[in-house]
Amino acid sequence: MKKNKSEIEFICPLCKTIERIPTEIVEMLDYADQIGVDTSVPPRFDCENCTGKMVPIYYVGANGKIFEYKK
Ligand SMILES: [Zn+2]
Repeated sequence: MKKNKSEIEFICPLCKTIERIPTEIVEMLDYADQIGVDTSVPPRFDCENCTGKMVPIYYVGANGKIFEYKK
């Protein structure tokens, strides 16, 4: 089974800003989101530079689903 690294790289689809977020924080949010919500979307963060939502470039989700950002 694939595993995450210690940090996840997130990218803003609008301004292409890249930010590293510790995996434990991403997973905490991801696991907290598993109840009653759409689990087909990865955890996202507000971009600090624009109104975009940063998405993971590569992330293995709580239920084993792999998210990959397609450039
Ligand atoms: Zn942005």
